[in-house]
Amino acid sequence: MTLPRQRIAILGGGPGGYEAALVAAQLGADVTVVDSDGLGGACVLTDCVPSKSLIETSNAMTLVNRSTGLGIATGGLATVNAARLYERITDLARAQSRDITARVAAENVRVIAAHGRLAGPGTVRAAGEEIKADAILIATGALPRVLPGAEPDGERILTWRQLYDLTELPRDLIVVGSGVTGAEFACAYQALGSRVTLVSSRDRVLPQEDEDAASLIEDVFRRGGMTVLGRSRAQAVRRDSGGVTVTLEDGRSVTGSHCLLTVGMVPRTGGCGLDEAGVKVDANGFIEVDRVSRTSVPGVYAAGDCTGVLMLASVAAMQGRIAMWHTLGEAVGPLRLGHVAATIFTDPEIATVGVSQRAVTAGEVSARVLKLPLATNPRAKMAGFRDGFVKLFTSPGTGVVLGGVIVAPRASELILAVSVAMEQRLTAEELAHTFAVYPSLSGSVTEAARKLMEFTPDGP
Ligand SMILES: Cc1cc2nc3c(=O)[nH]c(=O)nc-3n(C[C@H](O)[C@H](O)[C@H](O)COP(=O)(O)OP(=O)(O)OC[C@H]3O[C@@H](n4cnc5c(N)ncnc54)[C@H](O)[C@@H]3O)c2cc1C
Repeated sequence: MTLPRQRIAILGGGPGGYEAALVAAQLGADVTVVDSDGLGGACVLTDCVPSKSLIETSNAMTLVNRSTGLGIATGGLATVNAARLYERITDLARAQSRDITARVAAENVRVIAAHGRLAGPGTVRAAGEEIKADAILIATGALPRVLPGAEPDGERILTWRQLYDLTELPRDLIVVGSGVTGAEFACAYQALGSRVTLVSSRDRVLPQEDEDAASLIEDVFRRGGMTVLGRSRAQAVRRDSGGVTVTLEDGRSVTGSHCLLTVGMVPRTGGCGLDEAGVKVDANGFIEVDRVSRTSVPGVYAAGDCTGVLMLASVAAMQGRIAMWHTLGEAVGPLRLGHVAATIFTDPEIATVGVSQRAVTAGEVSARVLKLPLATNPRAKMAGFRDGFVKLFTSPGTGVVLGGVIVAPRASELILAVSVAMEQRLTAEELAHTFAVYPSLSGSVTEAARKLMEFTPDGP
């Protein structure tokens, strides 16, 4: 006897939700996605896709503006057509959302455009309808955190979701928060021609990241003319006639034309019926899940930013897929956060995978570490840049690659070689014996691996 077709209801159509829907449909389930803002979610419409599109333009600006060094005569500094730039970004995001909608429709997934909530066991309510399901996935994402005293007005005091409604480039942009989002936007707007002040409450920018990489980026920012205020916690942001004033906790103030707030995210779970359903959340309101995306309530799974596990689109999508494989009876491995490859899209980019320098320095992981600057790489010289490095971590006993950090233009592409080596448990020797193109930046990955083969009694 065959079991009846499983019914899946998904709240939220971002990467956590729509990727799960595709997997569930592929496995023959009857799938309904309830989404309030458009498929692709904040990832596609306001966060990841728009920011990376903006950064493509800022990278092009950097290239054009240093073209004289490459022997190209130009008529002076290139400038940005802000209206055209923002129009391109929003068009691109909407097109991506449409592509996802078409793909999901092709798999016969039912989409309800509405706000939805849990409404009793195995039930989701949306648009006046009750959807019965054998399993429910919550993937409702997160919202920008708002600081009391620094409420965004959408004109001068902004979250990153409001940037693309501007009609001009901020002349003097103050970015509050020096985590990944703050660093990416500060870097991009500086390249686009804004004067940028980055307000960081910590000693250095990107406090959670590899220290060598973060120091290098901070140095690049300062050399490019950015004002980086370390150990400066913003207390309030006020709009005044000329623009904005950011008051710091120590009494100093900074003025600019616009202020961008990048101070983290809060889960978007209000009105989802979590309390009534008994779904446990942590102290910050994020839904508690295990490594196969189960919540505290049987039959209710959660994925993506609303779980606060690791706020990346790739992780959201994997959590969503794992939930579906699990509930639909497929063999599934639990989420492996130690294998997630991630990139900070500054210029140069910072890409990481596997063990961190911090864990090695703290003695939590035993690893040989080799850092090779890009300055000697022939391709880097040809392209005219010198900021960057390749860092590899290998197991001292076996030589197996445990992870790496790459700081380079397009490090997001280069890190794959290290990810594959790590995933396949390749040794430094095996990586070193792999052909890299000459000349190429990836040649530095194999060169670093070669150096790790050299025997030195005290390590490299
Ligand atoms: C500026 C920025 C840049 C980023 N860049 C990257 C990057 O380069 N790479 C990367 O991997 N990650 C990046 N991220 C992170 C990435 O965007 C998120 O991790 C990803 O969006 C999480 O996906 P999600 O499905 O959990 O949520 P979301 O993408 O937020 O989607 C949630 C969806 O649920 C809907 N929804 C919410 N509540 C309800 C409800 N009650 N009923 C119905 N629908 C509801 C929302 O409307 C939305 O459509 C970036 C984030 C930011 C802020």
